Amino acid sequence: MNYQERLQGVRRILAERGLQGCIVSSPENIRYLSGFSAGADGWLFVDNDVCAVLTDGRYWAQVAQQCPQAELIEYRSHADGCWAKCLAAWLKKRAWQGKLGFESCIVYDVYASMAENLADMQGLVSLGSDLDGLRLLKSAEEIDLIRKAAEIADLGWREAVKTMRVGMTENAFCAALEYHMKLAGASKTSFDTIVASGPNGAYPHAGVTERPFAEGELITVDFGAVYQGYCSDITRTVWLGTLDEKSQNILRVVRKAHDTALEAVRPGYRGFEVDKIARDIITEAGFGEAFSHSLGHGVGLAVHEAPGLRKESQTLLQAGMLVTIEPGIYLPGVGGCRIEDLTALTETGREVLSRSPYQELGQIHPAEAFD
Ligand code: ZN
Ligand code: ZN
Repeated sequence: MNYQERLQGVRRILAERGLQGCIVSSPENIRYLSGFSAGADGWLFVDNDVCAVLTDGRYWAQVAQQCPQAELIEYRSHADGCWAKCLAAWLKKRAWQGKLGFESCIVYDVYASMAENLADMQGLVSLGSDLDGLRLLKSAEEIDLIRKAAEIADLGWREAVKTMRVGMTENAFCAALEYHMKLAGASKTSFDTIVASGPNGAYPHAGVTERPFAEGELITVDFGAVYQGYCSDITRTVWLGTLDEKSQNILRVVRKAHDTALEAVRPGYRGFEVDKIARDIITEAGFGEAFSHSLGHGVGLAVHEAPGLRKESQTLLQAGMLVTIEPGIYLPGVGGCRIEDLTALTETGREVLSRSPYQELGQIHPAEAFD
C-alpha cells in the first residue's frame, strides 16, 4: 500500500483548512493511513513531516511489523495518564506548535481530554468526516482484497446453504455460515450476520434468533467476510419448499428492482439517480412504503461507507468506487426479502464481486441454485 501517497491526501486537507497537524481516531482511517490494524486501541498523529502511531505496549511489536514507515509514540498508561497527555508531552519535546485537526467521530470524553491536555496548541478544529473522503476511490490493490472478501462470503454461502433444512434454527444456520466463511479465510464477519426467517424478515436489520425455519417462508440472510481488513457484503433471500403467491410476488419485484439497478449503475450517475431506478420499480408495484432504506452504500475498510445510493446523495459515481445494490420489501407481521450484490465501478461500467447464484422460483432447495 502506498502510505506516503495517502498521507499526502491528509496533508492537502490540512493545508486547505489552515491546520498544521491532526489526530486520526477512526480505526479505518488509522489502518488506511498507517497499516496499523488495531486502530481502536491507538491514535495517529499526522503533520507535514511525520506520521506517528500512539499506542500501548500490547501493540508496539505489531506497529514495528505493520508500519515500519511510521514513528511509534510509546504510551504507558500507568506513567503517562491519558493518551492525550502522552501526545502532549511528545509534541512538547519536539517544540511542536500549531492548530490541530481531529475527527468528529470521537466521543465527548475523548474530546474533553484532548481539550484539557492539548490546551497549549493554537486550537483544536474539527475535520468532521473529511478524512473518510480519502477512502472513496479504491486502488486496484484494495479492490483485489475486497474481491477476495466477496469470494470468501460466496464460498461460505455455498457450503452453508447445503445444510439448510426445515427445523434448523436461524442461530444454527448463522453458525454454519460463519464457520464456512472462516474456513475459507475470513478473519471475522463484516458485521453481525442477519438470518431473518418468516415474520422476522419484516425487520431489515433483524439479528439472529432461535426460531426454526418453516416450509414455504422467506429467509433473508445478509452477511459478509473481512479479509485483510477489507469487507464484503451480500444478501440472499431463500426458502425451503414452495412459496405462496404473495411471497413470490414481492420477491419478483425486488429481483426486478435489483437487476435493473445493477445493470444500470456506472460512473456518471449521481447516488440518488441509482436509488430512484430501483425505488420507482418497487413503488410502481405498490410497495414503495415497504422499501424503508436506501438502495446501497460504499464498502471498503468499513462495511458502510461513502458513497451512499440514497434519495439525497449528490455524489457523482466514478470508476474505483464500490457500491452495494440492495433493494428490499418488508411487510410487518408477514415477512420480507432483500437481494444485495457488491459491485466495483469500472471505466466501462461495473464488475459484480458477489457471485452467489439466486434461487429461482420453483426450485425446492436453495443449494440447487449452484447446480
Ligand atoms: Zn448487507
Ligand atoms: Zn449492505
